Amino acid sequence: MVIGRAVGKPSSEWRLHAGIYQRHEQADAVVHTHSDNCVAVSCHLKPLPGFHYLAGEFGGNDVPCVPYSTFGTQQLADDAAAALTDRSACLLGKHGMISRGKDISAALDLAHRLEIMCWQFILTRHLGEPELLSEEEWVEFHERMEKVSYGQFI
Ligand SMILES: [Zn+2]
Repeated sequence: MVIGRAVGKPSSEWRLHAGIYQRHEQADAVVHTHSDNCVAVSCHLKPLPGFHYLAGEFGGNDVPCVPYSTFGTQQLADDAAAALTDRSACLLGKHGMISRGKDISAALDLAHRLEIMCWQFILTRHLGEPELLSEEEWVEFHERMEKVSYGQFI
């Protein structure tokens, strides 16, 4: 459901939501926010790096950030849908974030988790540039996630 400010008029970001539903059959809900910490990290136009193992909960070793495009455009919708091919959430450059889930609760939970991860990344950067998990550590993490079945976000 995408509802804009005017009753009955779709959000200006309807393409962003529709593109994800069209491309990802497993997505039954999409959450898009301009939450503070996601916006702050997205304004650097870089992925949220794998500085903490829970960055892997979104399906990879980082959380991608798509390039800036004007809100409501097909370019932004296409970039976001592509970024969510192997991730359950991504940052939108100089804009915010978007997540997809099997239902609204899952998509909202991912949006909340990403906001917390971005906040923790900002805090971590106050102490300098964090060391990232190694490829070997990521392989072990994803294997572990499969075993304990926490990682069913993709
Ligand atoms: Zn927006």
